[in-house]
Amino acid sequence: MKIAFIGLGNMGAPMARNLLKNGHTLNVFDLSRDAVQSLVDAGATASASPKAAATGVELVITMLPAAAHVKSVLTADDGVLAGIARGVTIVDSSTIDPASAQGFAKLAAEHGNPFVDAPVSGGTGGAAAGTLTFMVGANATAYEQVNPVLAVMGKNIVHCGDTGMGQVAKICNNLLLGITMAGVAEAMSLGAALGIDPKVLAGIVNTSTGRCWSSDTYNPFPGIIETAPSSRGYTGGFGTDLMLKDLGLAADAAKSAKQPIYLGALAQQLYQTMSQHGDGGLDFSAVIKLYRDVGAKR
Ligand code: NAD
Repeated sequence: MKIAFIGLGNMGAPMARNLLKNGHTLNVFDLSRDAVQSLVDAGATASASPKAAATGVELVITMLPAAAHVKSVLTADDGVLAGIARGVTIVDSSTIDPASAQGFAKLAAEHGNPFVDAPVSGGTGGAAAGTLTFMVGANATAYEQVNPVLAVMGKNIVHCGDTGMGQVAKICNNLLLGITMAGVAEAMSLGAALGIDPKVLAGIVNTSTGRCWSSDTYNPFPGIIETAPSSRGYTGGFGTDLMLKDLGLAADAAKSAKQPIYLGALAQQLYQTMSQHGDGGLDFSAVIKLYRDVGAKR
């Protein structure tokens, strides 16, 4: 397929590379020249604007930081909607709020273009390996059409419902992840303060009812799991500021649904405090520093 790929950052670049490797032809656009050049070196064609990228293609994929960027890439004078042919589908894999995704779908429909929200989980490692999970919000026809292309970049492609439901799945999962990580950090810190060997405690939790991904795969206590960011100074992994962004999306969506998120609101404040302390670039499991660094000078 001839595809336009817009947004070649930490996630977009490896995703686009996997499309090239699988024989698709790509027009690419990003504000960063270096990002574009690295994809051109891999066989893509550079475009001067989102409009130019979308001209003459059979599918458009965007992977951008937030809803404001998606809006500008779609609707600017030199945006996607100015260049795309009628009937061509737009897939947005950015993590944004469900209401914005639904708004973009409406806008795209007015131009005669189906719009699919397809946020991902699996991080940069999953993007490079082509093993992402795609949470897809689309009608059945659009889902069937984009599935084979998404399958090149991911191993789980899940149809979550109509437009916006991919984003609903994504922000609900990350709401829970933010909460469970803080919970594991709290329990591990209490145990250590009371004198138990943290490895023994983690072993008990991971064979008991407290077990979760935050405890058995990504434990925030250093030295428990060798491959976790906690064992390498909380570098790499999923940044605190990205978690904060996703909890903000969950808070906004909860407000619009008049739905309480008691624990999510508290978790948001914990990650906000980390960010204020200058730890926004650390992996989000560094939330444990709020428990274990108490009294340390800042
Ligand atoms: P990133 O900041 O590394 O990349 C974003 C890219 O978009 C950058 O290259 C930037 O230059 C480009 N960009 C910004 N505005 C643009 C515009 N107007 N036109 C063209 N290009 C523009 O971000 P990322 O880590 O690749 O994340 C992308 C999305 O995926 C975000 O919504 C993020 O929340 C989500 N996500 C990230 C991860 C992760 O682990 N990094 C995991 C899952 C989901």
